[in-house]
This record gives sequence, structure tokens and C-alpha cells, in this order.
Amino acid sequence: MTIAAYQGVDGAYSQLVLTHYLREHGIEATTLGVPSYREMATTVAGLRAGAGVMPIESALAGTVRESYDLLAEFGVAPVAEIHWRTDHRLLGLPGAELRHVREILAHPLVITECGRFLSGLQHVRAIPCEDTGVAAREVARGGNPAIAALGPPATAALYDLVELAEHCSDDPQTYSRFLIIRPAHATADNPLLAITKSARRKTSLAFSVDERTGSLARCLSILADRKINGDKLESKPFLGHGTERVFYVDFEGDVEDGNVADAIAEFKRTCKTLIVLGSYNAHVGAPAGAGISAPPAARHVPREIRQAQAISAHIETPFPRVSRISRPEGSTLRIGGVRIGDGEFVIVGGPCSVESREQIIDTAHAVRERGATMLRGGAFKPRTSPYAFQGLGWEGVALLAEAGRATGLPTVSEVMTIDQVERMAEQIDVLQIGARNMQNFDLLKAVGRIGRPVLLKRGLSATLDELLAAAEYILAEGNPNVILCERGIRTFEPATRNTLDLSAVPVLRERTHLPVFVDPSHGVGVRRWIRPLCRAAKAVGAHGLLVEVHPNPPEAKSDKDQALPFDEFGEIVADLARIAVWSHSAVGV
Ligand code: PEP
Ligand code: MN
Repeated sequence: MTIAAYQGVDGAYSQLVLTHYLREHGIEATTLGVPSYREMATTVAGLRAGAGVMPIESALAGTVRESYDLLAEFGVAPVAEIHWRTDHRLLGLPGAELRHVREILAHPLVITECGRFLSGLQHVRAIPCEDTGVAAREVARGGNPAIAALGPPATAALYDLVELAEHCSDDPQTYSRFLIIRPAHATADNPLLAITKSARRKTSLAFSVDERTGSLARCLSILADRKINGDKLESKPFLGHGTERVFYVDFEGDVEDGNVADAIAEFKRTCKTLIVLGSYNAHVGAPAGAGISAPPAARHVPREIRQAQAISAHIETPFPRVSRISRPEGSTLRIGGVRIGDGEFVIVGGPCSVESREQIIDTAHAVRERGATMLRGGAFKPRTSPYAFQGLGWEGVALLAEAGRATGLPTVSEVMTIDQVERMAEQIDVLQIGARNMQNFDLLKAVGRIGRPVLLKRGLSATLDELLAAAEYILAEGNPNVILCERGIRTFEPATRNTLDLSAVPVLRERTHLPVFVDPSHGVGVRRWIRPLCRAAKAVGAHGLLVEVHPNPPEAKSDKDQALPFDEFGEIVADLARIAVWSHSAVGV
């Protein structure tokens, strides 16, 4: 059976196009998803697949130039062009509602195509994904009703998702163009060699011209003089050739037609370089794709989900959703452009409390410049004394959100009461549950009902089992986006503010799939010991750090002894870059 390669995972547009084409032509094939367009091209060129597919143009978002480059670079031949209707829908979990959606995952081209729909949604962040299949899969796996994906009904069916909104493209009548390809030197049994040439053929060329006036016009007149109908012209810088440009042109006809062959001969004489990308069957009629169902072979529950379901059905644990066994591969959270849990080491920097506009904006810029990828700042402060600074409340939240927007950093802030949750979630990216509230079960349930990620701090005298059980409360309500945070516990040792229990990190990594952060600031409470503990936390396998930073630590309104000045924070971040990420991810770290 033929192997047909595409970029992406089950449910990607490329896969739907490819299976549709092969099925229409009675070709039996197994589809093989690979991580990149380049790998798809090398798989086909290297005869490890007999067929492949590449998107070449979105009617709304423009040419996929990489595909033309790959056609020129690799020994692959185009066979047919397909216009595919891209009537994107918003896909979510059964029971989810559009008004609760906070994050939408989609391929970058799809995000562009749905620009108007997305800009009409408040408090929603669009997150680029490798492909439409990955976007839908993440939604299905995550189990979080606040996360949705953009894609077609066929992909929804594949992952048991439902449509929360239809006609999300700026123009629902729009389509994308794809090319079916085969190896240039296909083996004789390749079924694509038997595809008959259709009445309407197209040819694509890549060429460069010298930089004299009129060179491009001269080339185009080669087509006009022979009454060949040009269809598309695209130019881009010619990589490795200074300021030279390369042009891609599509026109009607086949290289074997007399006038086309004659035109190509003339191109050869006129152009500096010429690559004939090939001739292929042009698309005829209305775009395909409307009403296409998922390829039957691909319709399945992904293996990891089946495994996890099978295991969790048999396991008795007080925290089945949090347990590592329910998701052996570990969770990855996407917060804005930041990925947590899959190898990237995340540093959250910022003040204990938001104190003023100037303070939080300056700190946001300073920590971003020094390598933080998220911004923290408390607005509702749990203080031991009622006379200590209690935070700026909603004014502080608004200032933190403003600093986040100004720097592009996702934000983290503590919620102390149930009635703060909804409003905080509208403005802030990650809701922190502080150590003192780790077992405030009603608060845990409230953040569990909201889509925002939660940073759950370990209680002052909580065991790791109690921390995991607290996280289970959040997951049990439907929010799987939880980060655990070790921040020091009460022991008999008074030398440090708390005792930072770094052994919690490997223990938690073994017992749960949730990412684990460390907060050395509250852990030791003494500025000069923050640095060695940051190093230790990364070395022991934490996924990220939460560190307090202040423009002028002695003047900080809370936790002044542990706040780092900007420069010291910068030195610590630079230092951390020299420590390898502990990359284990499976059970039995
Ligand atoms: C904080 O992060 O500012 C904070 C109050 O932390 P904790 O709840 O760990 O004391
Ligand atoms: Mn603090």
C-alpha cells in the first residue's frame, strides 16, 4: 500500500486533502504525519512515501512560500492542484460554551483567515499551533472547556469535539490551494504515475532575472506573446544571492505543449536561473472539502488518551486526574506564547505587590529584557498583620494587566476569594492560589470552573499528598491547567524564612503529570540565598521559577528582604542558562 506523507497529525487540513484526493482516485494509502513541510518533502523525495501534499496558497492569508521553495529544492513533482474550502468552525469540548472560551488554538494561517472573528471576541487569546490536528487534539486531551480550536467538522468528529461557532473565516466561501506531489523519480508501481492528465493543466516555474530595468517585463512578455494565460506571480528575495529576487509563476498549459515548451526555451535564454517546478492537473469546478468527513482509518481516540483512560479506570488513587499515570507523557500548558512543562524552562519575575504604575511597568520591562517570560505581581495580598500593606486591589490588577500588554508577558496574580475569580480571569492570565489558601476548597472549586491556568502554591505545612489532593479539586471541576509550586514549608529551622523543600520536585514529577515550579523567594526569604536555590531548583528538575523582583528592594511595600534588584535578577537568569534542563518526562523520572 502506498504511504502518503503530510505535515501534521490526524485531522490536519493537509491530511484531509490528501486522503480525499487519494480516495477520489481509488488509491489505497496509509497517511503518515511528519513534523514539518521540509520533512514531508524529504520523505517523498527519498522515496519513503509515494505521495505527499503541500499547501501553496490561502486565498485570505497569501502564498505559502516555503512550499514553492521545497518544490524547487527537492526532487518532487507536482501531480494535481486542489482548491479546498476552508470554512473554519470553532471546535470545543461537548458542553463548552463560546462565552467561556479564553484560548483558541489554530494554525497561524487559520488565525489570519479568522482575523475578524477572533478580534470580535473579548478576553480570548489566539495561540498558534503546528497544525489544525494538533490544535484539536490539545483541546480534546486538555479537557478544559475554556480552550477551543479552529478547524473543519471532519477534525471535530475525529476528536469528539463539537462546533461552538460556525463560519469563522473572514470569508466562508474562501478556499486554500494544495498540491499533491510524488517523488520526481517515482518507482514504476507508484499509483500517481497512472493519473491521467486532465484537459486543464498548469505549469509552475521559478526564475531569477538580472537587475536591469525591464528584465521582469521581458520574461512576462514571453508568456503574453504566446497567448499563455499567467495565473499567479510571486516574488521573494533569493536566499544566498544578495539583493537578487526569485519569481514564481503559475500559468496555463503543460510543459509538453508546443507553445509552453517554446516559452520555457525562451525563459532559459532570458533568465539568470530557471527551475521548472513541473506541470500538474489544474483544479476544476467548485472547491472540494465542504461536507468531507474524517478519513475512516484516522477516526480514533488517540493512543495516549486510550491508554490513560484504560489505566485510570483501573487505578485507585485519591487523585486520579492529577496522577502521573493518567497522563504518562506529562502535561504541557500553553499560556500566550509560553509553553510550560515540555522542556522550556520558564522564569516568572516581578514584584511581591503591585505598588504603582511606574513600578510595575518598569519592572515588567526590566524582567523581560533580562529573560523572564512571565510577569508576577500581587494585588490582593494575604498579610499576617492586618496593618501591613494589603495590596492595591483591582487597581493593582489593572496595572499588572497593562504591564503585561505593554511587554507581551503573560501575567500571574493571586486570587484570595471566590468573588474575585471571574473578574481576575478576565484580566490576568494565570490565577495564583497562595500558600494560605491551598486548602480553601471552595476557592479551589471556583478556579476549577474557570478556564484560566492556576498556579497552586504548597501550603505552609501541607504534605505533598495534600498539595496533590488540592490540585485534584481544580481538575475535578474541569480545569486541567494547573502548575504546582513549591514555596517552602514551616520547619523548626529559623535561619531561613521557610525551608525550601527541593526534594518535592522529583517526588512530584514522579507522582503527577502537572508542571512543577519553585519559588525560592518565599522559600528562603533572604536575597543572597535566592541565587543558589534558583540554580538548585533548575538542576533538580523544576519546570520553572517564580522570583520576586523590585526596582528598589529596600523600599518594597511587602517582602523587601527577598526582592531582587534588576541587575541581580539578570545575573541569575544568565547563570541559569548554563544549567541544563532536566529533560526527563516519562514515569519513573
Ligand atoms: C506571593 O507569591 O506573593 C505569596 C504571597 O506567596 P505565598 O502564598 O507562597 O506566601
Ligand atoms: Mn511575596
